Amino acid sequence: MKTMTCRDLGGPCTLEHHADSADAIIQAQDRHLRDAVKSGDTTHQEARDAMKGRWLHPRKSLDWYNGVKNAFASLPAA
Ligand SMILES: [Zn+2]
Repeated sequence: MKTMTCRDLGGPCTLEHHADSADAIIQAQDRHLRDAVKSGDTTHQEARDAMKGRWLHPRKSLDWYNGVKNAFASLPAA
């Protein structure tokens, strides 16, 4: 398991996600952003919109995606 925070993934808070793969971390962040915005947390709106845009334009988002993958790969496993 490795840990990345909401902030590591472009969000505004320090909530930690734990997962075995970068994809799982991104999914956890996506869920977190969705839940935060749904519960009225406006600080997560911008990151939520950015994440939504990534699903709509996956090719344009490759840099971000690869950046997260690289960051994940370079983390020490816990
Ligand atoms: Zn957050």
